[in-house]
Amino acid sequence: MNPIIPLLDMKAPYLELQAELDACCRRVMESGWYILGQEVEQFEADFAAFCGVKHCIGVANGLDALRLILHALDIGAGDEVIVPANTYIATWLAVSQTGARPMPVEPVEVTCNMDPQRIEAAITPRTRAILPVHLYGQPAEMAPILAIAARHGLKVIEDAAQAHGAVYQNLKAGALGDAAGFSFYPGKNLGAFGDAGAVMTNDDALAERLRRLRNYGSTVKYHNEEKGFNSRLDPLQAAFLAVKLRRLDEWNRRRETIAQFYLRELAGCPALILPMAAAAARPCWHQFVIRHPHRDALQAILTRQGIGTLIHYPIPPHLSPAYRELGFTTGDFPLTEALAGSVLSIPMGPHLSLAESQRVVDCLWQASKELAA
Ligand SMILES: *Cc1c(COP(=O)(O)O)cnc(C)c1O
Repeated sequence: MNPIIPLLDMKAPYLELQAELDACCRRVMESGWYILGQEVEQFEADFAAFCGVKHCIGVANGLDALRLILHALDIGAGDEVIVPANTYIATWLAVSQTGARPMPVEPVEVTCNMDPQRIEAAITPRTRAILPVHLYGQPAEMAPILAIAARHGLKVIEDAAQAHGAVYQNLKAGALGDAAGFSFYPGKNLGAFGDAGAVMTNDDALAERLRRLRNYGSTVKYHNEEKGFNSRLDPLQAAFLAVKLRRLDEWNRRRETIAQFYLRELAGCPALILPMAAAAARPCWHQFVIRHPHRDALQAILTRQGIGTLIHYPIPPHLSPAYRELGFTTGDFPLTEALAGSVLSIPMGPHLSLAESQRVVDCLWQASKELAA
């Protein structure tokens, strides 16, 4: 039996960078400083420079990053925010946590991202912002989205949780709208060793408010200018992230090499639909997502062969019990539902070897032929 190929090797990044990461642990522990401070400020400066954005504000996780942006823009009860129907539920939760209502828009099938041509139909007098997601590390079509937002006086907030280092029209994800939220959940392209997140913005006043909001509404200790939250980036995670950030370009290039290998070697595979990037976009290949009409059968065969796969995501937010109160039913967002029934993520990551990706390709060809017979 061949060894198992995981969807993502979670431990490999630590093993590759062990000496540097262990040194971070010691440095932070010995500093005696465990909330905000120099480690957080250094990573914020590094990641702001990486994204080409003026301000980075480190927060506790990606969901908080999005929620705090909405809060800082005074979006809340009675407001509506346009979101992709096809996304991870966190995008919607950030909106509902402020009291605002998520207004779903169907995707373009080729990229799985929000369809700009369907946005205007979802705009009402209550709409305050558009929240596109760069799903799977594929940049959303930002040019038409920004044009629509400008026409209607709306803010654009990027959910860049899967898009560290992705590029659109020569700008990095995180630099494309009024503000962006990143997650550093361990499985992301830039992942911490625990929960972590960040907000990016070029707006000085918004940045200042976000720095207050993440820290009890205060910049000066015990002077609380507004009702804030406790959502700070942990200094130990900041130290780890600064080390991993220095590898991000290289690790994203390794992902790109694998993606190009898959695209070349899987072309023509019966009934298989391969991912495609939007024009002017350079994805960071967070996930490599294929589609197949007999997805569940395909996944079962791959599992038997020791190939790790995952469905991102099996239940779209509008059909999740969590959003029962919005009253959506099956058939309301047919493109999103079709994707949920056909998508499959296959192994992808900076530590996947060429031999392993070859075995994934071989198994997929064999399985596709079997299912076509
Ligand atoms: C991971 C993710 C989030 C949330 O990030 P957390 O750090 O887990 O809170 C939000 N949106 C998308 C699209 C994500 O993939």
